Amino acid sequence: MENVITISEKANHYIELEDKYGAHNYHPLPVVLSRGEGVYAWDVDGKRYYDFLSSYSALNQGHCHPKIVKTFIEQAQKLTLTSRAYYNDCLGEFDKYITGYFGYDKVLPMNTGAEAVETALKLCRKWAYKVKGIPHDKAKIIVCEDNFHGRTIAIISLSTNPEARDDFGPYTPGFEIIPYNDIHALEKALADKNVAGFLVEPIQGEAGVIVPDQGYLSAAKKLCEQHNVLFIADEIQTGLARTGKMLACDYENVRPDMLILGKALSGGMMPVSAVLADDEIMMTLKPGEHGSTYGGNPLACKTSIVALQVLKDEKMAENALAMGELFREKIKALHSEHISVVRGKGLLNAIVIAHAKEDAAWELCLRMKEEGLLAKPTHNDRIRLAPPLIINKEQILESVEIIRKSLSCLD
Ligand code: PLP
Repeated sequence: MENVITISEKANHYIELEDKYGAHNYHPLPVVLSRGEGVYAWDVDGKRYYDFLSSYSALNQGHCHPKIVKTFIEQAQKLTLTSRAYYNDCLGEFDKYITGYFGYDKVLPMNTGAEAVETALKLCRKWAYKVKGIPHDKAKIIVCEDNFHGRTIAIISLSTNPEARDDFGPYTPGFEIIPYNDIHALEKALADKNVAGFLVEPIQGEAGVIVPDQGYLSAAKKLCEQHNVLFIADEIQTGLARTGKMLACDYENVRPDMLILGKALSGGMMPVSAVLADDEIMMTLKPGEHGSTYGGNPLACKTSIVALQVLKDEKMAENALAMGELFREKIKALHSEHISVVRGKGLLNAIVIAHAKEDAAWELCLRMKEEGLLAKPTHNDRIRLAPPLIINKEQILESVEIIRKSLSCLD
């Protein structure tokens, strides 16, 4: 079936503006959105879509959650930014709330996910020298193949994705890359006494929702404990109820030594990220050694408290668990010759396209857009399907029907 894509003149106007005046560092789906509410987004022509990307899981609470928007507006009219040069009447409240919520001594707030990852890497190195006693400049951090932790120079230095790395060298030293979901490789790497940390995604989201074997995370945590190495969980995409638990690490009762959060921490209102850890790690940092002008700003703090509150109040983890199971069950029941794998946890799922021709996932995403559902490929043959966690049964069934109809474009 031929894939006919409709783009209105109005939509095309905005696409051309971005094309002409913006850097081409993304390859967006040709849809121009102007409004969002709950699980839906509308384009400039008024067409409604299910949002099955949720801005890479930043919109777990749904577009424009009314309670989050209300708090955001109220605080925006009062005080937005003080920098950390002064105290303000919001940061302490946020610090207390989030450390109590996740059970850590301290939090360090930042803005984007990549900044929080950088923060964790710096904290890990500082701890290595001040507490563990690793010789100066020798600390090593173990990471996994096919990881995605962001796009700064240090972070792409630990990436195995040529798109992220090529032509951006020279790279930051001090990282060792091992295969994901390979406990023996971790054990071997930990033999080096200069290893300070193990940075891992509990599920690799960008790699195509790669779920490790049951027991991998708990075994990895145990090995890290035995070797006095920090277990650092990047839950920027998997955390905050996305996988059906508050954290994906909760599935294995693993408490990370450092927990990295971002994305849905503000419910999609603004960039808010954070690193949580206990005093032994966090108190190695002294004034002036790390920070960010916007990190911990009053607007972010107030917004984030409500964004966390509604996750619990509206039982979003429980809903993600139930709706995720229903979604996978219904997709499998399609018995489509075009789908080879359906995988995921909670509402972080992916389908893998069978015998995928070049751009198969892209073509399917274009067709789904036409039918009223937005999603993005993570690879040529994989599409991540991650709606807001407030989606209900009827909406899941309608979405699966859209996916079923769209699959015909691969006939
Ligand atoms: N870590 C993980 C696991 C992510 O999925 C992402 C973004 O997709 C990041 C880090 C980077 O976050 P940001 O884009 O906010 O810098």
